[in-house]
Amino acid sequence: MKCRRCKNNEAEVILRRHNAVFCRDCFLPFFENQVKRAISEHGLFEKHDRIAVCVSGGKDSLVLWDVLLRLGYRADGLYINLGIGEYSRQSQEKVDAFAAAKGLKAIIVDLPGEGMDLPSVTAALRKKECSVCGVIKRHFFNAVPRNRGYTVVATGHNLDDEASRLLGNFLQWNTKYIEKQHPLLKETPSGMMRKVKPLVRLTEYETACYALIRGIDYMLYECPYARGATSMVYKDALNSIEEKIPGTKARFLYGLLAGELSGLGRKMEGAGENAGDTNGLACGSCGEPTYTELCGYCRLRAAVTEKREKRSKGALR
Ligand code: SF4
Repeated sequence: MKCRRCKNNEAEVILRRHNAVFCRDCFLPFFENQVKRAISEHGLFEKHDRIAVCVSGGKDSLVLWDVLLRLGYRADGLYINLGIGEYSRQSQEKVDAFAAAKGLKAIIVDLPGEGMDLPSVTAALRKKECSVCGVIKRHFFNAVPRNRGYTVVATGHNLDDEASRLLGNFLQWNTKYIEKQHPLLKETPSGMMRKVKPLVRLTEYETACYALIRGIDYMLYECPYARGATSMVYKDALNSIEEKIPGTKARFLYGLLAGELSGLGRKMEGAGENAGDTNGLACGSCGEPTYTELCGYCRLRAAVTEKREKRSKGALR
């Protein structure tokens, strides 16, 4: 089968939802055009913006960093070392190697160095890893870029991620979350950074093809705490529908973004609300926007310190 674009090379990438097949060379411009389209349709950022790309060492975030650099944007990687043993060590290795190959250096947040590695924090507080991880990521993916003068925070969420999130929210009738789901969350006067998802028009498969063609060496293993995540159930369900009815995922998500579903999307007026404006309220410890005296991360840190102090006093008795 010949490539639909050049009509010369053998096709290697089959995209049933676009009724198209591409050779390696022609797939890259297709991929880049989808990213450009997401950026311009949703007004994600401009050429003068400074973009902090949240990288995990996985395929989507490294692909995002790569494609933004290729499109001429000022983009730097931001990695959080969660201290999850071998998984974190290998993930950071992938990030460092990717950056070094481009003559760059990623910004690294080292949680073990602060005594806040995820396993020991969750053990001290007896909390679930993913909920603690969410608090940590929300904090550092806002505070670090803000303090370093970045104007946008970009994440590698793709079409599969967003469609499965939407399905999950519909199945639970979480209308508040549905209304806020958008590839652009605007910055707020209180200091919430603008958050964007430039890969929203591309599937997991398309992102993997791009990584393969570009020779991006990424982390193949999932975080050990990801096992049994409900998002995987929703992804599997959507994949089996997509298999029989190509294009379903895209129609499902884009319908929301176009404001076609029960008027829910219309409330967003072209962008989602960020975590809300805190009317100038800021954390008494770190200065990040928050509704309470201390932000979620500083409360977490205080609780861990208290637990450790109690434990060491108990051990001395
Ligand atoms: Fe964090 Fe791992 Fe949970 Fe993802 S699966 S939220 S990386 S702990």
